[in-house]
Amino acid sequence: MGGTFDPIHIGHLACAEQVRDLFELDAVVFMPAGDPWMKRGRSITAAEDRFAMVKAAVQDNPFFDASRLEIDRAGETYTVDTLRALRAHYPDNVELYFISGADAMHRILEWRDATELARLARLVAVSRPGYEIDDARRRYMLTHAAIRHVSVIEATALAVSSTDLREKVRSGRSIRYLVPRVVSDYVENHGLYRGGA
Ligand code: ATP
Ligand code: MG
Repeated sequence: MGGTFDPIHIGHLACAEQVRDLFELDAVVFMPAGDPWMKRGRSITAAEDRFAMVKAAVQDNPFFDASRLEIDRAGETYTVDTLRALRAHYPDNVELYFISGADAMHRILEWRDATELARLARLVAVSRPGYEIDDARRRYMLTHAAIRHVSVIEATALAVSSTDLREKVRSGRSIRYLVPRVVSDYVENHGLYRGGA
């Protein structure tokens, strides 16, 4: 599961756990992006901070892990490069899935090498409040020549976003229960998202 994770929150974790359960996955690897090209235009929290929060957030789930692959790779982050690296790393009998929220999957056809992406991994798009997958989009995703293996999952949805969490911290409001305790502690101890206040 890729993302900026700025910061990781219960929406990410609940979504990953439901997909893991549904598809009986052996593991979910959270992969914080190094330089998310789709998010140019706003300043992203240092990769080491985002990674530290992901690592802390996944530690109590034996199926979850955090990877440094994207943050250690120089240059821009492209999911297809990551999946190529994972494909080369794991034995052939290991099946890869790429998990993303519906909003991100809607943009899959804008991604570089979408066809190869779909060949490297099964794509799982998870419903997310505010980004419902309507019938037209579902049909579009399912029939697009490049994308043959998109599973569209209606998970129990949580309307949490990192954008909203950053805004809450900036204006001095509580994010308790919206992120794991270790994450709210990290945010507080490192003074993240204060906007210089
Ligand atoms: P931002 O508001 O900064 O974009 P975000 O909450 O969307 O942050 P991302 O790091 O952009 O978090 O998301 C990583 C992945 O997790 C994306 O595929 C996104 O669609 C998915 N995702 C994020 N929040 C949720 C949620 N509440 N429910 C389901 N999927 C989610
Ligand atoms: Mg997002």
